Amino acid sequence: MITVRFYQDFSSFRTAIGMPQAPAWMIGTAYTKSEIRMMSFNSPELGSNYTFEYLLTCAVHEFVHCVTLHMNHAIPRWLFEGIALYEAGMFVDPQNLPYIRAGDFPTLAELNSNWQTNTRIYEVGYVLIEFIVETWEKEAVRSLILNGENIPDTLGITVDSFEQQWYNFIQNKYL
Ligand SMILES: [Zn+2]
Repeated sequence: MITVRFYQDFSSFRTAIGMPQAPAWMIGTAYTKSEIRMMSFNSPELGSNYTFEYLLTCAVHEFVHCVTLHMNHAIPRWLFEGIALYEAGMFVDPQNLPYIRAGDFPTLAELNSNWQTNTRIYEVGYVLIEFIVETWEKEAVRSLILNGENIPDTLGITVDSFEQQWYNFIQNKYL
C-alpha cells in the first residue's frame, strides 16, 4: 500500500519534502518507501508542458522507486533512477543528446554523482536498463537491485566491460 500526497504549490511541496532548495525540475519524490509526495495535477504553478499524462508518468516513476526501496534500500543512483525511468516508459532518443552523438558517453560513476546538477541519468537511464533487459533478461535487473548493483557477481563481467557494451548497444541501435 503506497500513500500519495499532492501539493498545490512549490513552496508547500518543498517544505513537505524537507528540501527548500530543491531544483525546479523536481516535482515529486518517493518520500519514504511507502509514501510519494508530488505536485498536484491542478497546481497553477506547473507550466503547460506538465500535462496530465506527464504527471501520471511521474507518479508511476515514483511508485517504482517505492517498489525498489522495498526490495533493497542501498542501490546506486544509476540503477535506482534507471529502473524507474524504464518502467515509466520515459524514453529519450540518444540521437537527440548532443554529448552522446559526440561519443561522450557517461560512466556509471558519473551518473551516480551530483544529483542536483547532473541530470544525465534522466536522459540515458531508460536505454541503460533497456540494454540490460535486451542483453541478459529482465531477471538480471531484479538481481542487480537485490544485490545492490554488484555487476561482476550478477552479470559475470567487469564494470568497464559493462560500460563498453552499453556504449556499443547505443551506437548500434540508435546512432
Ligand atoms: Zn526518480
